[in-house]
Amino acid sequence: MKYFDLSGETALVTGASRGIGAAIAASLCAAGAQVIGTATTAEGAGRISDSLAGKGRGALVDVSSAASVEALFTDLSAREELPSIVVNNAGITRDGLLIRMKDSDWDEVVATDLTSVFRVSRASLRHMMKQRKGRIITITSVVGAMGNAGQTNYAAAKAGVIGFTKSLAREVGSRGITVNAVAPGFIDTDMTRALDDSQRETLQQGIALGRLGSSEDIAAAVLYLASSAGSYVTGQTLHVNGGLWMP
Ligand code: NAP
Repeated sequence: MKYFDLSGETALVTGASRGIGAAIAASLCAAGAQVIGTATTAEGAGRISDSLAGKGRGALVDVSSAASVEALFTDLSAREELPSIVVNNAGITRDGLLIRMKDSDWDEVVATDLTSVFRVSRASLRHMMKQRKGRIITITSVVGAMGNAGQTNYAAAKAGVIGFTKSLAREVGSRGITVNAVAPGFIDTDMTRALDDSQRETLQQGIALGRLGSSEDIAAAVLYLASSAGSYVTGQTLHVNGGLWMP
């Protein structure tokens, strides 16, 4: 059996313009899937189309907007590109201690990191249920499991994703659809480049493998769950954190 062959599958990856999402889109594409990667700008979508080089394309969506998600799926349906693999990757942080946190910091993070997962997953399900197969994979975070001062909004959204994943896995398992989450630790992307050298050093000391992860480390876990190698895994959160936190 060829485990990592995704020929004939269509994958939707949100937030594929950079960082972890770009690596996920590249790895699913290399495994043979047709990939639609999303960005929030036309320039980002263009870059995705260029990097997928004819085996996929970029598309525009703001996952925090119900209308935008609906428009994306209307377009995918019209092009006969409804996905059999969905990777909910788009996410943001708006860090700050709770005592000073603005309502907008809370609302934007919950809308982008949690409500979007509900909307995109719901929009994907009808097609997957008809096909009696599908993979829904959401990128959560180690912070959703272990907590982190200054990230109550992000931790709440990412922990919410884990409960959502378990519940949806129970709803759709009988239809041949698996639903899982991948929880990265600290990964070297735009999101973590804001850390200064001393913060980085302190962080690295707490990681058993002694380094920040790469986007490719996360893409490999997603590829496993998306492929036939992961077909008996559902409702799980796969922690990919170099030993920073162990459940
Ligand atoms: P990143 O480099 O900041 O990239 C974020 C991606 O999300 C970009 O493609 C961005 O699109 C997209 N995005 C942001 N807001 C969006 C919206 N409203 N609608 C649609 N797309 C939106 O982030 P990353 O580090 O790769 O993180 C990817 C995922 O992994 C996130 O869910 C994050 O929470 C999670 N994660 C990251 C780490 C880490 O250490 N980096 C750790 C744990 C979990 P544009 O380019 O168009 O803005």
